[in-house]
Amino acid sequence: HPARHPDDVRAAELDRAHVFHSWSAQGALAPFVLAGGSGSEVWDHAGRRYLDFSSQLVNTNIGHGHPAVVQAIQMQADLLPTVAPATANLTRGLAARAVVAHAPAGMHKIFFTNGGADANENAIRLARQHTGRDKVVSLYRSYHGNTGAAVVATGDWRRVPNEYARGHVHAFGPYLYRSDFWATTPEEECERALRHLERVIQCEGPASVAAVLLETVVGTGGVLVPPDGYLAGVRALCDRYGVLLILDEVMSGFGRTGAWLALDHWGVRPDLVTFAKGVNSGYVPAGGVLISDAVAATFDDRVFPGGLTYSGHPLAMAAVVATIETMEREHVVENAARIGADVLGPGLAALADRHPVIGEVRGLGVFWALELVADRATREPLPPALVARVKSEMMARDLLPFLADNRIHVVPPCVVTDDEVARALAVYDEALTVIEGEL
Ligand code: PLP
Repeated sequence: HPARHPDDVRAAELDRAHVFHSWSAQGALAPFVLAGGSGSEVWDHAGRRYLDFSSQLVNTNIGHGHPAVVQAIQMQADLLPTVAPATANLTRGLAARAVVAHAPAGMHKIFFTNGGADANENAIRLARQHTGRDKVVSLYRSYHGNTGAAVVATGDWRRVPNEYARGHVHAFGPYLYRSDFWATTPEEECERALRHLERVIQCEGPASVAAVLLETVVGTGGVLVPPDGYLAGVRALCDRYGVLLILDEVMSGFGRTGAWLALDHWGVRPDLVTFAKGVNSGYVPAGGVLISDAVAATFDDRVFPGGLTYSGHPLAMAAVVATIETMEREHVVENAARIGADVLGPGLAALADRHPVIGEVRGLGVFWALELVADRATREPLPPALVARVKSEMMARDLLPFLADNRIHVVPPCVVTDDEVARALAVYDEALTVIEGEL
């Protein structure tokens, strides 16, 4: 590999001197330096290239540096780089229409935000205002973002030091491999998870529950694909108790699962959908809430008590329009579906046949998890020190992985090629062989 470039050294030094990082103790950080990228590859200043099987934070669905999106941002910057949210702006309107074109029937309006957290924040606000109720039920295995209500709706450890918002209740969702319901089949897991959720709603008092908030496919919490019938069952519960259903598609949306929205796989009809990440692959920060006609109508005569200076920022909106048009033209979502069904899914299954350290493979499209275990029989998670070794073995082989707890999340861009998948599978294979030697 080429020697370390002075700009890599400078980037690391400046970072350590002045940049305060997310979710970390700052003292021992040594962040990885990236200078550029194209498609499924990224590189440092020295030109060392890595296969990006993290899609950064699972958001570069269209790949790095897509020229059509970059050019659209440049043209918008020439035309009008910023505008107040209260104005009507053509680029914003086109972006809204492009998102609505891929939304479930009966959803025609969008409130744009800066990212996923504030999308959930505003979806919760819309649900509370619309129902006149207060509580939000979400799952312990979830991540919904790092702002007041979104982080308390979150189930994972990040909620705990941030519990300052009120009105949040948590439940367990379906996760057969580590079932909280002693289930042994997907049908049992589904039925019992629904029963549990209904009991939580009943015990909280249905008249106080504004919304159930779920990731359609739980992302950071483990790529948990819901069993067939679960989302339809949640919809039925919401209807029974007058509760709104908010689906968080921030990670699962815009091609990740091989569909425009993950909810398309099950035909579920939510009241609100939140999105961000893949909607423009994060080239300019953007997110939003898709609002059903019934919820939108509530605010025809009533003031919506929320707003953001950069709601529908024109650079972000130009990136949304270009991303969606390009994904349509280049059949990017179809590629994600085909790769998942024909290449990545079978390839990961074959890997699991060879590696006892893989306890379970699950996912769809370009959204997969390998659950790593020290013992297949007990399902004891692989210890953190060995998970860290998996990461360094992969990086040494020029692959950027995404690791969460004891899992490798296999989350390349939706534009990933057969050849790139083959290269990545070879890296996973070698890295897991090394780790098994150390177990
Ligand atoms: N919801 C889900 C499902 C996410 O995965 C994330 C981010 O990872 C968020 C919300 C928060 O999005 P953001 O980081 O853009 O605020």
